Amino acid sequence: MIKKIDHIGIAVKDLDTAIKFYEGVLGLKVTEIEEVADQKVKIAFIPTGDSELELLQSTTPDGPIAKFIEKNGEGIQHIAFKVDNLEEKLAQLKAQGVRLIDEKPRRGAGGANIAFLHPKATCGTLVELCERE
Ligand code: ZN
Repeated sequence: MIKKIDHIGIAVKDLDTAIKFYEGVLGLKVTEIEEVADQKVKIAFIPTGDSELELLQSTTPDGPIAKFIEKNGEGIQHIAFKVDNLEEKLAQLKAQGVRLIDEKPRRGAGGANIAFLHPKATCGTLVELCERE
């Protein structure tokens, strides 16, 4: 049911500085920048073939990305897998006793439906499941 790595979320302190590296040094291109008020982040999308990078900058000092950087420094914050039927997958995981952060899909960046699994259930990595129409 998992199709591929949809994207990798990377927490950065400053989007402009990070974009200078990914565009200027690696030669990738930011296709869109979106603010997701709900998650207190500004996101730059960088397609890399069949998957993409999402650079995440907190819009408030108390947002989840700001807290992540405070604790861990900048770097990979989550990995997102693409699934076909998110609601069904969540029900299946719940039935298996997997600890979920989101029991129901919610609206994420780029118009996707997303849900996070708890890092305690995934050997330490924040895993996102992502469904795109
Ligand atoms: Zn994500």
